[in-house]
Amino acid sequence: MIKVKNLHKYYGQYHLFKGINLDIQKGEVVVFIGPSGSGKSTFLRCINGLEYFQDGEIDVDDVALHSINRLRPNKKDIEAIRKIRLKVGMVFQQFNLFPHMTVMENIIEAPTRVLGMNKNEAIENANMLLRRINIEEKANSYPDELSGGEQQRAAIARALAMRPEAMLFDEPTSSLDPEMVGEVLAVIKDLVEEGMTALIATHEMDFAKEVADRIVVFDKGDIIEIGTPDEIFTNPKIERTKIFLNRTQ
Ligand code: ATP
Ligand code: MG
Repeated sequence: MIKVKNLHKYYGQYHLFKGINLDIQKGEVVVFIGPSGSGKSTFLRCINGLEYFQDGEIDVDDVALHSINRLRPNKKDIEAIRKIRLKVGMVFQQFNLFPHMTVMENIIEAPTRVLGMNKNEAIENANMLLRRINIEEKANSYPDELSGGEQQRAAIARALAMRPEAMLFDEPTSSLDPEMVGEVLAVIKDLVEEGMTALIATHEMDFAKEVADRIVVFDKGDIIEIGTPDEIFTNPKIERTKIFLNRTQ
């Protein structure tokens, strides 16, 4: 469903990705691990057009996104990014809810504005999502009236309201207090068990083991190893994977 081919990414003079490749099947749960600064966030951000890249191609189903001229993106690139964002939702470390809108307003904003969904239908759909993530009673609260875990669950509901075909999670629990990590991971786990395609960057190794079909290990902008959780955690083949995993234990 998502194919990344020969991706090159520079930050200024720094050549982070030197032609990396990855194929993700529909329904697959792929977890990205690796040291800080290894490129996990950048990789996710390239997929939904939040980050420019200089060479290569990213395909999401039949939509192809090519290297983009940052100063003058052409109409085709802009259209490809728009289509990809409709198919792929993203959840960030810092929740990114609109602070001046209630939870309900946050959730119905994109479906009504972007998809043209009628407001009653959007509200009904939002209530269903709020029930599912267990924060129904917070529908009329503002983000700053919620706990971190509730805000992150609301952010997940907001992404799901667009009925994406895949979800990107960039360290969805790393800015949460420890006691709230579990409730957010449980929501993500339910979602992937229902068959959602998901790409997840995380430092939560136990969670990675539990949910991943495949683990992708990043180091210095390179994908150094890919395998099942069992292969990566109990029998890593690459020395740098072993070193990284030893440091996280
Ligand atoms: P972490 O585990 O800390 O979240 P990460 O694996 O997500 O790390 P990235 O955030 O993708 O890593 O960063 C990869 C590299 O690119 C790092 O060396 C970082 O300093 C660099 N980088 C990221 N964003 C920018 C930017 N906007 N400008 C310049 N360099 C950047
Ligand atoms: Mg990151």
